[in-house]
Amino acid sequence: MNNQKYLIAANWKQNGDAKTLIRLINDFIRLHKKVKPVCDILILPPAIYLETILNRLKHHKISRKRISLGAQNISSYENGAYTGELSVDMTKDYNCNYALVGHSERRHVFNEDDKIISKKVRLSIESGMQTILCVGETIIEYDKKLTKKVILRQLKSALVKSVDLFKSDHSKIIIAYEPVWAIGTGKTASLDDIRDIHSYIHNSLSKILGIKTNNIKILYGGSVNDLNASLILSLPNVNGALVGGASLNSKKFIDICSSI
Ligand code: PEP
Repeated sequence: MNNQKYLIAANWKQNGDAKTLIRLINDFIRLHKKVKPVCDILILPPAIYLETILNRLKHHKISRKRISLGAQNISSYENGAYTGELSVDMTKDYNCNYALVGHSERRHVFNEDDKIISKKVRLSIESGMQTILCVGETIIEYDKKLTKKVILRQLKSALVKSVDLFKSDHSKIIIAYEPVWAIGTGKTASLDDIRDIHSYIHNSLSKILGIKTNNIKILYGGSVNDLNASLILSLPNVNGALVGGASLNSKKFIDICSSI
């Protein structure tokens, strides 16, 4: 695992407009050229701006290996009469090679259940996407000490039907551990909790795969910023970060990317 690159992902969510997001990506590219961070970087823009951001990357001659693009969400259906939905294959037209599945806002605001998430994971991997599955407990579950139970359920239900697709290539799936209560709140999980839960996820993935160990990347997400990134990213089994709020500030985001 140590020889793998860290992945730092920017989840822009439903923020900004064409003007502000073009300014954000231009600023970030300028800083990226100066700082040259060694990690892999992923930008997850609102879907309607994928082409705009792709064109900015092309314009500045940034290879998709240095800064990748991904979808914040995909449909659980391949194609058809599903008004308002976006198929995983459509996102590939804009060079997306990552898809986020099961983000806590999808689970809790849009009521996506384990069954839907499992379908999305399978579709996404089948179509060749590096698929980031988000898992994490609510504050009530945390207080009741149910974190591990919840995470194991989320991992099993999302992954068991797709194990055949990533068993021989662990890079196809990435897990993001994001405690729901830490997202957008300014509260991060303690370093001890992150260490403990990431180790638990790593071991659970081996069990799901039926093997001794694995190379599946595990990102931490939940109020990561330029000040706490370095400590979080130095923990064992933390292979990157999923960043929301701080990714909307190019200086903060480049500082997170270069804190490894
Ligand atoms: C997220 O959206 O996945 C996230 C972690 O957001 P924030 O960094 O703002 O907590």
